[in-house]
Amino acid sequence: VLLRAALRFIGGETLAQCVEVAKVLNAQGHAVTIDYMGESVRDAEMAAQATQEFTTVIQTITLQQLDSSVSLDLSHIGMTIDAGLAYNNASFLAQAACDAGIEIMISMEGTGRTTMILEIYQQLCKRFDNVGITLQAYLYRTPEDLTALLQRSGKIRLVKGAYEAPASLARSRGAALDAAYRGFVEVLLKNGHALSIASHDTSLLNPIQQFVQAQDIPREHIEYEMLKGVTLDRLQALRDLGYRTRVYLPYGQTWYLYLCNRLAEYPPNIYQAIAEALGREGVSASAKENTLLESRR
Ligand SMILES: Cc1cc2nc3c(=O)[nH]c(=O)nc-3n(C[C@H](O)[C@H](O)[C@H](O)COP(=O)(O)OP(=O)(O)OC[C@H]3O[C@@H](n4cnc5c(N)ncnc54)[C@H](O)[C@@H]3O)c2cc1C
Repeated sequence: VLLRAALRFIGGETLAQCVEVAKVLNAQGHAVTIDYMGESVRDAEMAAQATQEFTTVIQTITLQQLDSSVSLDLSHIGMTIDAGLAYNNASFLAQAACDAGIEIMISMEGTGRTTMILEIYQQLCKRFDNVGITLQAYLYRTPEDLTALLQRSGKIRLVKGAYEAPASLARSRGAALDAAYRGFVEVLLKNGHALSIASHDTSLLNPIQQFVQAQDIPREHIEYEMLKGVTLDRLQALRDLGYRTRVYLPYGQTWYLYLCNRLAEYPPNIYQAIAEALGREGVSASAKENTLLESRR
């Protein structure tokens, strides 16, 4: 029953289902990034299986001629077991993706893993320029990390940050975080660095668009990226304005936690999820509004 609710946010439980969703999004003018969901694997055999599945994803993107990159968590392919194992598996995938002309985007995880992820990424950058990295604007360390990463050509995907983090390491949601996010975007744009603006927040997206216009930056140089099932009307509007757009499209069996995270970050989704779980088309705006009020209470 819950799978029906999850399907709004994921490409399906299998790669074959995900490919069909990717084709529809591609036909609408959006690139996608396919992620075989999973993280924190503590068994080398499972890390090898995940690496094999990502290899199949790369082959399938080529075979099906999808406009898609690949997103992955380094802890899904071995980082929680050994950094060297994750580096070897990531190198194998980066080489396969490079041969196929496909980009790999590394996701950013909890604060206990930031340094290790960035170290592995720096090693990968010495051999590959088709690998990008996600940076979290909420971390106080990000200005320093960004300066180091500007020396590398890989795309930087900028997000607010989703993991719970100690107040000493990260800002919470609010005006200061928004200002930091906009500042990072401006640095990246002024440096002409490959960038993906991964946010659904109009209070960020609108001023960024004004900055782009003021600086006369060609719109096709800028990519906006959103999660499947989240404010895709906003992504479509950006596409219509001439920006490049991408949809994050995860698939796999471990969708339950992913669904919980999507519901937790935006509680009005809960009514929609219940309606979808019951097989109904949707809920009225007033029902959503009531949920929002209830969740605030
Ligand atoms: C492509 C992509 C990749 C990401 N990768 C990572 C990663 O590697 N590491 C990481 O820590 N985080 C990652 N994130 C998550 C990110 O850090 C944020 O938690 C998430 O994007 C929500 O932040 P926001 O910028 O949209 O702003 P928010 O302040 O959270 O939301 C702004 C507005 O967006 C809309 N919205 C947001 N979420 C939802 C939702 N679930 N349903 C409906 N509406 C919603 C609402 O209108 C909300 O008011 C990624 C996000 C994206 C889009």
